[in-house]
Amino acid sequence: MSKFSKEDIIRMVREGDVEFIRMQFTDIFGQLKNVAITSSQIEKAVNNQIMIDGSSIEGFVRIHESDQYLRPDLDSYAVLPWRPQTGKVARLICDVYNPDGTPFIGDPRGALKRVLQKALSMGYTFNVGPECEFFLFQTDEKGLPTTRTADEAGYFDLGPLDHGESTRREICMALEQMGFEIEASHHEVAAGQHEVDFKYAEALTAADNIMTFKLAVKSLAQKNGLHATFMPKPVFGINGSGMHTNMSLFRDGKNAFADPGDPRGLSKEAYSFIAGLLAHVRAMAAVTNPLVNSYKRLVPGYEAPCYLAWSASNRSALIRIPAARGQATRVELRCPDPSCNPYLAIALCLAAGLDGIEKGLTPPAEITENIFAMDEAARAARGIENLPGTLKDAVDLMCADPLITSTLGGHIVSQYTAGKYAEWEAYRTHVSQWEVEKYLLTF
Ligand code: GLU
Ligand code: MG
Repeated sequence: MSKFSKEDIIRMVREGDVEFIRMQFTDIFGQLKNVAITSSQIEKAVNNQIMIDGSSIEGFVRIHESDQYLRPDLDSYAVLPWRPQTGKVARLICDVYNPDGTPFIGDPRGALKRVLQKALSMGYTFNVGPECEFFLFQTDEKGLPTTRTADEAGYFDLGPLDHGESTRREICMALEQMGFEIEASHHEVAAGQHEVDFKYAEALTAADNIMTFKLAVKSLAQKNGLHATFMPKPVFGINGSGMHTNMSLFRDGKNAFADPGDPRGLSKEAYSFIAGLLAHVRAMAAVTNPLVNSYKRLVPGYEAPCYLAWSASNRSALIRIPAARGQATRVELRCPDPSCNPYLAIALCLAAGLDGIEKGLTPPAEITENIFAMDEAARAARGIENLPGTLKDAVDLMCADPLITSTLGGHIVSQYTAGKYAEWEAYRTHVSQWEVEKYLLTF
């Protein structure tokens, strides 16, 4: 059941002193896009008549087939609290459609909807709770971002050490005004690093929420003269930022991952879901960890995963089962980082898990020891594989996995891989400061 009708939206805009409505969508590389319309256009907007030129959007369409229509998800209506409160700005999250009324195959939100439909046909709904980490950095005299922070705090520290406290407070309050339920916020391990956790939601809403979250964090940081970044590893030698993704399947209102009769309290579906994730996670990495820089986070020593293993307790494993059971039973995948396109990342997680269930896969034995303390031989003896080490390896692996490519669809795969190979090539041929320092004098 929808929360809002077209009439509700028109009334809220007219009576709520709303001047602008941002019609938002996400490109395939995870960038939030919008076209702002004035309130006089709201009837057109709710009747799906707002057109965009898709040829200018990364990964969308070619110039000769560029007209696309935005179909707002009416339930996503929200006022942006960080914009002026007279002549307000609201937003509507939209699906992208072709002129002939069919969904555009390159719309990431549509890709997630397709997998959710598949889950539904198997009797499941899918809940996702992300843990987004980010850094707040200072800006320079020109207002440009730096990687400096005056904040010396660490895990769970508080002010006056924690210089991000006020910005975090404003982020939490703004998101609550937009309907988020904020569960916790805290300083993270690294100086200048923070985490804000919001309540899990049905997967499509969770992906929308991640996009809203990133916009809120960046906008409010900027208001306070700071730069917020979701770059996975902005500073060498300290922790990077992850987006641990907690997932559960529900059937008839009950958590399908819970089974009180099992020694670990997990159902057969939960085990198969874990096995499906492990079978495809290397091929998913190009999406869950989409940047050259993502692979600099996935190294030993910084609480980020590197090896394919699961555990009911151990944080060194890629997949962890948090202690809560019953309706809160969930699988936590620790590799995604917050630079990913959440629609595509969540679509792939679900597709991989469902594949495990359909095939009745069983996961390898649980690893309870600290994997970071094992050497390569010890890991090999236990059959523990590595996550890909570079973006290039990840994209190669993605192309070789038919489940992953068919879930994304040919259009997204070709646009995505072309973009990512180009990004890799630009990086590979760049001469970095590290090389100059390492070789210039010696050779
Ligand atoms: N920042 C760590 C990561 O890169 C995670 C720290 C934590 O356990 O919250 O995944
Ligand atoms: Mg954390």
